[in-house]
Amino acid sequence: MTLIVEKFGGTSVGSVERINAVADHLIKKHQSGEQLVVVVSAMSGETNRLVGLASDISDEPSPREMDVLLSTGEQVTIALLSMALQKRGNDARSYTGGQVSINTDNVHSRARILNIDGARIKSDLDKGRIVVVAGFQGVDFGGNITTLGRGGSDTTAVAIAAATEADECRIYTDVDGIYTTDPRVVPNARRLASITAEEMLELASLGAKVLQTRSVEFAGKYKVPLRVLSSFIEGPGTLITYEEEGSSMEAPLISGIAFQRDEAKLTIRGIPDHPGIAHQVLGPISDAHINVDVIIQNASAKGLTDLTFTVPRADYKPCMEILNQLVLTLGARDVRGDDQIAKVSIVGVGMRSHIGVANKMFKTLADNNINIQMISTSEIKVSVIIDEEHLEKAVQTLHDAFELESA
Ligand code: ADP
Ligand code: ASP
Ligand code: MG
Repeated sequence: MTLIVEKFGGTSVGSVERINAVADHLIKKHQSGEQLVVVVSAMSGETNRLVGLASDISDEPSPREMDVLLSTGEQVTIALLSMALQKRGNDARSYTGGQVSINTDNVHSRARILNIDGARIKSDLDKGRIVVVAGFQGVDFGGNITTLGRGGSDTTAVAIAAATEADECRIYTDVDGIYTTDPRVVPNARRLASITAEEMLELASLGAKVLQTRSVEFAGKYKVPLRVLSSFIEGPGTLITYEEEGSSMEAPLISGIAFQRDEAKLTIRGIPDHPGIAHQVLGPISDAHINVDVIIQNASAKGLTDLTFTVPRADYKPCMEILNQLVLTLGARDVRGDDQIAKVSIVGVGMRSHIGVANKMFKTLADNNINIQMISTSEIKVSVIIDEEHLEKAVQTLHDAFELESA
């Protein structure tokens, strides 16, 4: 029998009507002979609402209680969807993450899944039940509820598909597949019939939130057949492929453009330059659990150097405080910062075999009077940091320059 894991995001289960529509869809699939595990998100807006309630109570809510709070969003959806399925004649069962042993580490708000016990799920499936599992949550070895980071239901779905050796994992969302860039920013973006897992991993980690990065990592590791589809209109969606490096001779130069708005940049200037300086500056940032992204260290002049790096905008203030302390202890000159920057990245495996891609990006931005503040490259991507004000224009003009639009 075919075993499918289907995941429905917030908008797809955002109202009672939507939940009923999802139930109709699942019953049809089940009647056509598919065994179904369904992973759902909180109803749209719910997780943000809960975050808002917590911040009304406390500036620094405890991470443990945040996870207890945020996990309730998904618990509402699993119960409602199961009721809708039962009303349609299926003996569906809902489960929280803990109930199906989605075991994670104990890093609250961004826990990693360690293992899943698929036995309970399988035993229900064998009884003809549709199994409905809460996305985004798990339980640590101490029995505490954990959550997997925003967008984490994608990862729950892929991890369950891997654990149950499902035939396919389908991510249903509010767009009908993966596009050359966010179709909400570039209306003439094109849906891709397929994309390599390697490219999707870059796009996701560079800001394309259509799939959580961790879910793509999981899919790649366990070779989970993964497809992104619309829950509103029927269509083939986008298939994630796992072809070997170099096998796609016709790979386009650029497959997609990703961007991230909520970034900030900090520079510590005039640090005495000696071995260990990067460690001395970035060590305390990492100890504060702040993720550093792009880093540039300037060439040393008269024994002094500058170090610039970017962090998520939410971490700008604590970072600034750490650097101001370091100015005193390291004898640096001062700290500068800008929390109105954004990152734009072009991604494509075709870059490996073509030169001049980065230069075309730089020229396009220059022709549009967009100043590049930092550059970072890897084998299949080029990222630039620019003023946030120019973000939409940069994405649109790059999309045009690389001829990514739909025909
Ligand atoms: P869900 O609630 O279903 O998990 P998300 O909001 O997390 O949905 O992800 C879907 C959104 O991702 C789309 O509405 C779209 O705005 C955004 N997105 C960003 N980049 C892309 C892309 N390259 N292709 C498709 N969607 C994208
Ligand atoms: N509800 C969570 C969020 O809004 C998880 C998810 O939707 O994937 O981030
Ligand atoms: Mg999502």
